[in-house]
Amino acid sequence: MKYQSSRGKNWCEGAAQAIKMGISPDGGLFVPENIPPMDIDIIKTMGQLNYQERARLIMAGYLEDFSKEEIEHCISEAYGHDKFDHPQIAPIHQLEKDIYVQELWHGPTCAFKDVALQILPHLLTVSMRKTGEQSQILILVATSGDTGKAALEGFRDVRGTSIIVFYPEEGVSEVQKRQMLTQEGENVFVSAVKGNFDDAQNGVKSIFGDQQLAAQLFNKGIKLSSANSINWGRLLPQIVYYASAYADLLADEKISAGAPINVVVPTGNFGNILAAYYARLMGVNIKRLICASNSNNVLTDFINTGVYDRNRHFYKTISPSMDILISSNLERLLFEICGRDAGRISSWMEELKNTGRYTVDEQLLSKVQEVFWADYSSELETQQTIKKVWNKYNYLTDTHTAVGINVYNKYLTRTSDTTPVVIASTASPYKFAGSVCQALLDKSDTDEFKAIDELERYTGVAAPAAIKGIAGKAIRFSGCVDAAHMGQMVLRVAGQKRE
Ligand SMILES: *Cc1c(COP(=O)(O)O)cnc(C)c1O
Repeated sequence: MKYQSSRGKNWCEGAAQAIKMGISPDGGLFVPENIPPMDIDIIKTMGQLNYQERARLIMAGYLEDFSKEEIEHCISEAYGHDKFDHPQIAPIHQLEKDIYVQELWHGPTCAFKDVALQILPHLLTVSMRKTGEQSQILILVATSGDTGKAALEGFRDVRGTSIIVFYPEEGVSEVQKRQMLTQEGENVFVSAVKGNFDDAQNGVKSIFGDQQLAAQLFNKGIKLSSANSINWGRLLPQIVYYASAYADLLADEKISAGAPINVVVPTGNFGNILAAYYARLMGVNIKRLICASNSNNVLTDFINTGVYDRNRHFYKTISPSMDILISSNLERLLFEICGRDAGRISSWMEELKNTGRYTVDEQLLSKVQEVFWADYSSELETQQTIKKVWNKYNYLTDTHTAVGINVYNKYLTRTSDTTPVVIASTASPYKFAGSVCQALLDKSDTDEFKAIDELERYTGVAAPAAIKGIAGKAIRFSGCVDAAHMGQMVLRVAGQKRE
């Protein structure tokens, strides 16, 4: 299957090339030439399969240039070996009749990004091999928290790769920082950067644009690559769990074959909800996709008005993984919805770059609104939702999931649409223990590690081993670098092995 750039200028012969390149040279994102259809009989069959077999069924349709063995290898490395602490990988939890939460955080770093970042390193190394690439891959990541740790854990000790993660000195939570600084593996490296997330991000961007540095690395047999969510290899694994959710509800006789469901996704970069849209295109009967934002509600406004405008205040919220004003993956949705008109996409994205905003026409907007519904949750509403959900269902949710539940309640009030719903739960509550503890117990305990114990005591819900364990783990990294010196650091540590 060929992959096309959403800005029209570049094509890839197969998935391996698209995954290896990550982003298209014309600035666009790669999309599959056609969408493999999946009828209700296949979904019914999926109900009898385990998660790895479900992943094989769906991913094979997009990875036509991969052999059966190659796909098998990637899937078993990612979802086997007890890397996830739940045998179903993405289990469904029922809150009440017709309202379900899909827990996507049973992976090693306790956020949904594991589902994709556990398999991406293997898709990438297989893709490199298939396209005749000889170099070692060095992954560079600038992170505001969750991505960095999930990428470290995914690439750790994967042969032919190494990874350097930069995080802003001030700007990640205590738990997130400790998770990264205690990272194990001999091909991993972590450093703080003086400044905020933008400084770290800009530093990484300028390293990617530095031809001289690229040549020096090439002499060491190393090529740079990125693990961020515009890579098709990160989107594809996420399609699987939406089909899997439908298959589970059907197998458990919660819905009948072919009946519609709605899906709610707490959204930042628009990657996770876009995967649900692809599942819908394949044939999973998803009626409505409900896009939930926090106070950074640029997507709420876009879906309701057709105006995308990033010229607004940036809020630091208690759902920090959704604090984002440029949702990169929206470009793929617009490409599909406007009939794959790459020219229009290019001009909107050019406008976005130059003015920070663009407007789509009425016709396109009404097509978006046929499928999507959007709203946002304020900080107070998110806190209240955590408390309400605990009191009503005895179910502990993190801040991001609470945004989703709050927006779903607004949807229900406004539309009275009682179609069975699956709400994507994107992080373990213990990953954001400080904020969850504050919401539930009204305690502003600043020590996040204390908050973990406190929450466990109060709720009786055990914290994941991966989070409980970090307090006792040795800290392996301590450096902090000026943004201007990140390139030198990359050169220094590239190719080194760590004890
Ligand atoms: C990354 C992240 C999100 C946002 O997902 P997108 O794919 O960027 O829309 C939501 N919740 C959590 C916990 C995350 O880590």
